[in-house]
Amino acid sequence: MTKKLIRAFPGFQPDFKLADEGLLKIGRAVKNIAAPYDSKVEIPDYLSLVNHDFSLGKKEYEKAVAKEEAELSLLVRRLKELKMSVIIVFQGRDAAGKSGATKRIVEGLDWDWRILGVVPVGAPNEEERNQPYLLRFFEKDRMPGFGEVRVFDRGWPEDVLVVPVMKLASKVHVENSYAEINSMEWLLRRSRSVVVKIWLDITKDEQKKRFDDRQADPQKRHKYQESDRIAREKWDDYSMWGNRMMYWNGTDYAPWYMVPANDKRFSRVACLRAINNAISEEIKNPFRTI
Ligand code: AMP
Ligand code: MG
Repeated sequence: MTKKLIRAFPGFQPDFKLADEGLLKIGRAVKNIAAPYDSKVEIPDYLSLVNHDFSLGKKEYEKAVAKEEAELSLLVRRLKELKMSVIIVFQGRDAAGKSGATKRIVEGLDWDWRILGVVPVGAPNEEERNQPYLLRFFEKDRMPGFGEVRVFDRGWPEDVLVVPVMKLASKVHVENSYAEINSMEWLLRRSRSVVVKIWLDITKDEQKKRFDDRQADPQKRHKYQESDRIAREKWDDYSMWGNRMMYWNGTDYAPWYMVPANDKRFSRVACLRAINNAISEEIKNPFRTI
């Protein structure tokens, strides 16, 4: 896969790692967060690299998820003393499994709301629209203190996804947003938060199946909205902006992780693993800016 991309983009420096377990990590070495946006850069099709063949059987899943949840709990309990915190951002198309993955984190941390917070993110309200876009993520205890974890069910990456796809702002706004996001994440890392951004990737067919399930099930019907249908019509636009986002905002200090998500069991375990790895790496080798 890497070779294919290098052939397609002469001079392309592999800025990603495709692990055997299907996890794709995109983290370009960004030396200067003020590096200008360049519209002429050819953006690799990262999404085409996702392998959707992974799955986990029920027994295997139960064993693996219990192990990863326990590991998460142990790691998180060390954070306060180490003066660290964790910020997880889930993105992905509608019905990709963002809430299911969030649930496993909540479970792993034993519903301990003293250290855990889940922040659902929708369109900004009138007041927020009159403020710098990124401010809303810092208000109302949304960011963690030392020893704490916050899970964003969608987050600031929406400013470079739904916003350009639905043409909610100008092109210049979006181009600037990449640098704003890189700066914000840099500030978060400097203040000792591990930032784990996860894109849960499902195929178009799988999404259709999940939409149908949601519509057929009275308990899930609230999860299906008109906006889901509209977003589905813009599938390819989302892919294009998703690849751009991963290129511009997949940094070495706040990488993007892409998780194959057609199989819910597989993806939940893969998310926990990515998070646990990111925390362990940070404990072993803390981020330093000087
Ligand atoms: P859900 O995640 O299904 O609860 O839906 C939240 C909705 O809010 C999605 O349709 C998002 O695309 C939308 N949304 C999130 N952030 C923004 C934003 N910055 N501007 C506009 N819409 C947003
Ligand atoms: Mg939704």
